[in-house]
Amino acid sequence: MNPIELEIRYCARNYAPLPVVLARGAGAYLWDIEGRRYIDMMSAYSAASLGHCHPRIVAALQAQADRLAVPSRAYHSDRLGLFLEALCARTALDAALPMNTGAEAVETAIKAARRWGYRVKGVAPDRAEIIVANGNFHGRTTTIIGFSSEPEYRDGFGPFAPGFCTIPFGDAAAMERAITPTTVAVLVEPIQGEAGIILPPAGWLRELRRLCDEHRVLLILDEVQSGLGRTGAWFAFEHENIHPDGLILGKALGGGVLPLSAFLARREIMDVFGPGSHGSTFGGNALAAAVGLEALRVIEEEGLVERSRVLGLHMLERLHSMRSPVLKAIRGRGLWAGAEIDANFAKARQACERLAAKGVLSKETHDTIVRFAPPLVIARQDLDWALDRFEEVVRELEHARPLAA
Ligand code: PMP
Repeated sequence: MNPIELEIRYCARNYAPLPVVLARGAGAYLWDIEGRRYIDMMSAYSAASLGHCHPRIVAALQAQADRLAVPSRAYHSDRLGLFLEALCARTALDAALPMNTGAEAVETAIKAARRWGYRVKGVAPDRAEIIVANGNFHGRTTTIIGFSSEPEYRDGFGPFAPGFCTIPFGDAAAMERAITPTTVAVLVEPIQGEAGIILPPAGWLRELRRLCDEHRVLLILDEVQSGLGRTGAWFAFEHENIHPDGLILGKALGGGVLPLSAFLARREIMDVFGPGSHGSTFGGNALAAAVGLEALRVIEEEGLVERSRVLGLHMLERLHSMRSPVLKAIRGRGLWAGAEIDANFAKARQACERLAAKGVLSKETHDTIVRFAPPLVIARQDLDWALDRFEEVVRELEHARPLAA
């Protein structure tokens, strides 16, 4: 069996991959098993923001793998504190709880917010409520999908945990109406990634910050996808000059080589956790900590945040200038954009298939949006080459027979 047949035979069918079999990566390039080179415009959902197999990340990984990988947190390690010190300094938050996947860090934030609500705010037992936004994506655990607004994510997986209240994304007035004395936190993405790179109205986060302060509610931002340079700032909250009470990071934190996430917060919030209240066997392991520390240094020392800002402006400008009836909307910030394809012409999936055939890897989100999130290390000429290919696809779709309604 070839690799695709093998996966189909033995893997759960919980993804619908494009028919490309990858064997190697370097920076913004990926190669398939036939040696064909692609430009990566996807970065593994931002996990590979530093590029594939970044030499400094691979060196840190190898050096640490030779010394100590997983001691567990039954003991201290000579890596974890150094990593968390750098992470706290970068985010200006007091303390961090290291986990592995994004969803685990979101679960950690939910536990922290609830316990803070009971122990600090004085909410009656089991009454804590967390406000979330319509269209959210925070991961795939049963608690998290329970407050998803996507039927596809929820279908057949109930019953779901109570304690969440959904309001429209970007609507501060609805947020104010939803706050009750038992509200402990607001949990949102500053820009919704999986929903299709949806930007809220300017000023929305600042308004949330004000409402949270007024009502003694924690503002917790999920920057698993938007964080670490993706939007042209270290964190998307910087665009609005605010600071969250809690912050969730993941994906790029692992340097593109391993899972590493964290929940960060002010000390008062983090101190609700005592021994035994939360944990993860692999969370904060020495290998991940060494890689995470190097990832933070690489982003800083290679100026990747500024690259994302400058190249991101260029990418958005180019996408906007394509002007085509096929393109219903273009949205984005930094090296992160969504191109919405008019369903009368094609599905986003077809655009991604055509792109792959031309040597550019992207992936649709929902039926209509092609996402562009290249590694932040991408060279300008490679970005332009990939956008040239996208423009070709757009022109082809203009001439393709519109799909029957
Ligand atoms: N939060 C956000 C904003 C995400 O985009 C994702 C993943 N797409 C997650 C959480 C979940 O991360 P993971 O898949 O590592 O659990």
